[in-house]
Amino acid sequence: MNLTITNLSKTYSNGVKALKDVSLTIPNGLFGLLGPNGAGKSTLMRTIATLQDADKGEIWMDDLNIPKEKQKLKQVLGYLPQEFGFYTKERAINQLDQLCMLKGIANKSERKQVVEYILKKVNLWDARKQKLGTFSGGMKQRFGIAQALVGNPKLIIVDEPTAGLDPYERRRFHNLLAEIGKEIIVILSTHIVDDVSNLCTNMAIIDKGKILIQTDPGEIINDYYGKIWEKDVTGVDMEEFEKEFDVISTRLYAGKVFVRIYSDSDPEDYFRSVEPILEDVYFHTLSDN
Ligand code: ADP
Repeated sequence: MNLTITNLSKTYSNGVKALKDVSLTIPNGLFGLLGPNGAGKSTLMRTIATLQDADKGEIWMDDLNIPKEKQKLKQVLGYLPQEFGFYTKERAINQLDQLCMLKGIANKSERKQVVEYILKKVNLWDARKQKLGTFSGGMKQRFGIAQALVGNPKLIIVDEPTAGLDPYERRRFHNLLAEIGKEIIVILSTHIVDDVSNLCTNMAIIDKGKILIQTDPGEIINDYYGKIWEKDVTGVDMEEFEKEFDVISTRLYAGKVFVRIYSDSDPEDYFRSVEPILEDVYFHTLSDN
């Protein structure tokens, strides 16, 4: 299965150009859409989910013309928006059962089977009788995925899912997405590079409504070998430094300031060559834009 987006553009009524000629091809697997706040990620996600219309462009999932066949898309879409509401006083198992009913699974024993399968898949079976209001952030997000999984979707869209999760919950959520992404298309929109680096088989970077690159995260890192350099710059005048070097990022470590720069050749001057990470690719791509 392939999701193909061609020349998608959207200008809001206040004049903000949120999408500018966006084209992407998204195969089965976990796809990371990475970009800073305001880049256009949610606009793109909502447009794919047919919650809003673009001004121009096309979106196809194989031979399904998504903006023109909204009902058909809804039958195969699971969507986890940035914020989703549920009844805090309801038990997980009951709420999921109701969702199954809404999605048209009328047979009670079939529903029971589906609910059990999904709650086990997202690791919430033991918490099935707990009220949703008592769930931790990570459990809520996994419940969000559970509700998105009802009805056997072929496409799952997850918008900024890991904000507010602790590292353990985030890893658990990542593993769940990776597992689901084996069989269908999962699009994960995020501004957190780590959400993408360990997981996604394919990714794109978006900024100011434009796709800057679409790539395989593992492959693109190879292009950066030998080009990322680090140095302790504690006490250095950064304004001058930034005029001379292509600074990617700075970090504080043990009271010292370290800077990473991009350079095709050895900048000498006490820099040491370091292994590239996806964050280098991300910041370098954004700074080139
Ligand atoms: P992201 O999800 O990457 O943070 P968004 O798609 O939410 O980005 O926003 C992209 C741009 O469009 C931003 O400049 C945002 O302020 C603007 N925007 C988003 N929704 C609307 C709207 N309904 N009306 C006007 N401008 C909007």
